[in-house]
Order: sequence, then structure tokens, then C-alpha cells
Amino acid sequence: MTGRFVVSLDFELMWGMRESRRQHYAQNILGVHTVLPQILALFERYGVRATWATVGALACPHREDLKARIAALSSEVSNPQYYDNLRRYIAANVGNDEREDPLHFGGSLVQRILDSAGQDLGTHTLTHYPLLECPDKQAFIGDLRSGMQVLQESGAEVRSLVFPRNQVQTGILAEARALGLRTYRGTGESSSERWRAPGPAQRWHRGIRLMGAYLPIGQTQFKSESSAGEEQTMMDIPGSRFLRPLSRQSAAVHALHLLRVKNEMAAAARQGLSYHLWWHPHNFGQHSERHLKALETLLEQYRHLNDRFGWQSRNMNDVGLEAGQP
Ligand SMILES: [Zn+2]
Repeated sequence: MTGRFVVSLDFELMWGMRESRRQHYAQNILGVHTVLPQILALFERYGVRATWATVGALACPHREDLKARIAALSSEVSNPQYYDNLRRYIAANVGNDEREDPLHFGGSLVQRILDSAGQDLGTHTLTHYPLLECPDKQAFIGDLRSGMQVLQESGAEVRSLVFPRNQVQTGILAEARALGLRTYRGTGESSSERWRAPGPAQRWHRGIRLMGAYLPIGQTQFKSESSAGEEQTMMDIPGSRFLRPLSRQSAAVHALHLLRVKNEMAAAARQGLSYHLWWHPHNFGQHSERHLKALETLLEQYRHLNDRFGWQSRNMNDVGLEAGQP
């Protein structure tokens, strides 16, 4: 099987860092409104297909709409403190809509993604729900379902999941699968050492290990349950490398990082393996020109490897579809 170049971005604006109240990060978030369409234009120019795992809250048309969705969720959860904190945060920090508060709302950007060829709108839950910090499985599933609904109302077919803060918990996969999700971004081999809830997902995981039912990727593998012959769950498309931003690094350190990514891409393409690169649009929110230039050198590398080895660009949903994930 020919390897693939997989790209995913976690699109969250301020919702990914509200606990830390990093208001000094506001310039990075504001920059997303300019840089995200530029990233899309580069992807289009180089024929790159990407998954945009989007926090549903930012796609809500206005604050009252978001508050109504959260009110519908919080009545069902066993530990309501998470949503109590969130309501307080919204009352103190969140404006009415995208025009008034571009730090928290970006529905127009969601539309730009949907209008761009080859792009896959995935989910990052409604509220950036951190599953290992707030280990309430039903609360997570409710938040996930609601986050998918917001995107579906914008016209998206939502099939890909990135867990907030990469807090992967395979115990929820069967239920996420029942919502229509096909693939998720795993954390690589180290995740097999993490705690997971007993039950079907645990059996599935053991089945995968025993049967070696995986497709190759750089240092890790794509794992599909379909050949394991157990109950339907989701396909793991592990991240290979986080694309680091420039901040707080010297230019030389960043250049070395880019060189490493290019070398890993070349090694994967040469061996017919896959490579999954991921980052956040807000990582490019400052020093945008330099970040876009750096990205372009990686996309040039991709084109070169595509010409030479037939290495293909795929978003997460493409990978699931090609593997026959229903
Ligand atoms: Zn996130």
C-alpha cells in the first residue's frame, strides 16, 4: 500500500485555553481570522487535503445559541461543576457573536473550510471537553454529540474526531462510532500504556495487538477494527509529529525542526509509509508570514515526494473511507 501524507488541525480559537486565561494569547487567536484562509489557499495550491477538528462552540451563530446548547447538556451530567465553570466563563468573557467577539466565534471560517476542496470538517467536541481531567463518559458523549450537531447544521458531514488536549480514551469509541464518527487521532504507541475503561473497547484493543491488524505509518500505525472481527469501533490515525511554532525558539531551532519534519516525510514516502502532521491554526496567528513560508516549504516537499514516489495527501476521513471503515 502506498503511504499517505495526513494533515489535521485543531481549530478551537480561545476555547482550548480558557482555563489558563491566557489573555496575552489573544493576538494569536485574532490572527487566525486572517491566517486560516491563507492556509486553505496553500492547501489548495499544493493539492493537500486536511482534517479541521473544530470546537462546536466557535461555530455557534451567537452566545445565546451556545448557552442553550450547554443548558441542554448540563442537566444530564453527574458532575455539573464543569458546565458551572463554563457558564461563569461565558458570562465574564464571551461577547455576542463573531463580529463582536472574534476570540470565541468563527462561523465564517467554518464556512470557508466547508467551501474548500478536499477539506474535512471534524469534531473537537462542543466545549473542548477534557475527558481525562473530567472523566465522565456520558458527559463527554453528550458534549461530542452537541458539537457535531452545530457543525452538521452548517452543512458538514462530521466523521473525524480529535480528543481535546489529546486526552484519548478508547472506552468511548463504540459510542462515538454510533454517532457516525469513523476515525480519531491517536497518540501513537505510548497510548497503549494508558488506562482505559474495561469492556468492549479494551477487548478490541487486545484483539488489535494480537492480530496485528494495522496499516503502516511512520513510527506508528493506522489501526482498523474491521479486520479484527469484533464490534464496530473507530480507526486510529495516530499523530506522527506536532508542527512546532516559532515562538520562544531561535530561528535556528525552528529551522532544525522543519528539516526533521522534511526528513521524516521523505523517509515515510520512500518506504511507502504514512505520516500524520498536526498543529493549531492559532500557532500561525503571529509571525504569520514566516509560518506560512515554513508551511509552504513542507508542502513543496510533499509535491516532490508525490512526484517521485506517488505519495498521496489524505485527510483523516479519506483514510477511514479507503480502509473500508463504514
Ligand atoms: Zn484542542
